[in-house]
Amino acid sequence: MFGLMQSQPLLISSLLVHAERHHPEQEIVSRRVEGDIHRCTYRDLASRSRRMARALQALNIKPSDRVATLAWNGYRHMELYFAVSGIGSVLHTVNPRLHPDQVVWIADHAEDQVLFFDLTFLPLIAAVAPRTKTVKHWVAMTDRAHLPESAASIPNLLVYEDLIAGQPDDTFEWPTFDEQSASSLCYTSGTTGNPKGVLYSHRSTLLHTMAAALPDALNCSARDVILPVVPMFHVNAWGLPYVACMTGAKMVFPGGALDGKSLYELFESEKVTLSAGVPTVWQALLGHTAANNLKFSTMRRTVIGGSACPPAMIRTFKEQYDVDVIHAWGMTEMSPLGTASTFKTRHLGMTQEERYEVMNRQGRAIFGVDMKVVDEDGREIPFGTDKSGDLLVRGPWILRQYFKGEGGDVLRDGWFPTGDVAKIDAEGYMLITDRTKDVIKSGGEWIGSIDLENIAMAHPAVAMAACIAAKHPKWDERPLLVVVKKPGAEVTREELIAFYDGKIAKWWTPDDVVFVEAIPLGATGKMQKNKLREQFKDYQLPTA
Ligand code: AMP
Repeated sequence: MFGLMQSQPLLISSLLVHAERHHPEQEIVSRRVEGDIHRCTYRDLASRSRRMARALQALNIKPSDRVATLAWNGYRHMELYFAVSGIGSVLHTVNPRLHPDQVVWIADHAEDQVLFFDLTFLPLIAAVAPRTKTVKHWVAMTDRAHLPESAASIPNLLVYEDLIAGQPDDTFEWPTFDEQSASSLCYTSGTTGNPKGVLYSHRSTLLHTMAAALPDALNCSARDVILPVVPMFHVNAWGLPYVACMTGAKMVFPGGALDGKSLYELFESEKVTLSAGVPTVWQALLGHTAANNLKFSTMRRTVIGGSACPPAMIRTFKEQYDVDVIHAWGMTEMSPLGTASTFKTRHLGMTQEERYEVMNRQGRAIFGVDMKVVDEDGREIPFGTDKSGDLLVRGPWILRQYFKGEGGDVLRDGWFPTGDVAKIDAEGYMLITDRTKDVIKSGGEWIGSIDLENIAMAHPAVAMAACIAAKHPKWDERPLLVVVKKPGAEVTREELIAFYDGKIAKWWTPDDVVFVEAIPLGATGKMQKNKLREQFKDYQLPTA
């Protein structure tokens, strides 16, 4: 017997309909590439998304067709999130930090039909446009007055505001279709081989949105002002544009100005309460606030994930800025949210030092994500065992297969292997100790590189630290610490090695330290340890 409740497909357009109906006056503020601050409301967002949807249909874009963006965080990008998915087409957000060859490869692989781009990326578009196979229209995300003359070289160029202006906003209704239909496509950064596409559905996106907004996840409400620093081309800005519509939160978009000064100004002028981004972004911001003795007057929490948040950063946010870090973990393959480190009642009575221990972990699973850690033989390691293993996940917003079947069958007995090495404590709090590819195998034992990096990051002279495996004649591999010093700061190899004393098992201590000008960062702001390993592949460790 079926239940007797209404059945409505879970569609992305319903988020927009809700936002327009219940939060029409709520604001969306964007720093534009045109140079100014732009303000609009959810009513405007809904109206302009409908008109863009019509324009796409007029360009003969059909359900399942891929429509790409190469764009910063801004209101036009958000309109495309709803216009494209709303008509059943697939929004393909391309990472503009990729090499032009990769952009061409991805656009061809996705068979993009239209590509929308911010003016910043005009040179990139000029380089890739003659080479892509399927793109029929290139749309500059601006108005005609701001279109530079150099854009004339782009074939089949259209202007965003012309497309909107050319359509009425009267009788358009969002179509209804199967909630399992594809809605958006995001390629993983993939350190080796070709990038692989993760194809989200309307259903997976809606379920992820509901879970992501919960108090023990990102904790969003209509009273929030959210500034996603995490780009809309990195797993849909961790779902925040959808969460904002669902909750009616005010949205603030930083555009391409991601330096500490520009971000800080926007945090303060728009009274941002919640932000989200990878640790490297916060480092730049905290550098700016510390140098200028600034505090945040409204921001009280920030989501940090994408790579491990150094405990020193969590402490700095709390003690110097009264900002709680929500340490979160996820992956492109997981829409992305898997865990968030939020307290249980028991933790409320703890000292701040004990609470840091909880916050430093990547957190507990949000409902919808099941996770387990298995040993080398695939046997589950029970929660509460102090032993790490491969982390596997499953759930309705977790990938089943890559786009076009790339990589073959990826699931193991229905579980997705994350490629992360982790342990889970008795209360379900997960701690990532490494990426499978980054673990250091010393004398047959594993050394977790993240722990070693976190300790180095707590040293006042260290701006960034990566720990990689260096070849060792006796132990096979030993940890080598690669360090970028803070501007003007001094520290020696010996001082850094001594800094590990008492903080870690003696045999985990790095064998050597090298100082570098910069550590290579990937397209989503993560340290590229594979590049460092290549750079130091012949490094001779001291043998004494
Ligand atoms: P991406 O799909 O590019 O977002 O990368 C996902 C990977 O980033 C995960 O598999 C982890 O290795 C890493 N990652 C994400 N969040 C965290 C975190 N909070 N701590 C440690 N690693 C993380």
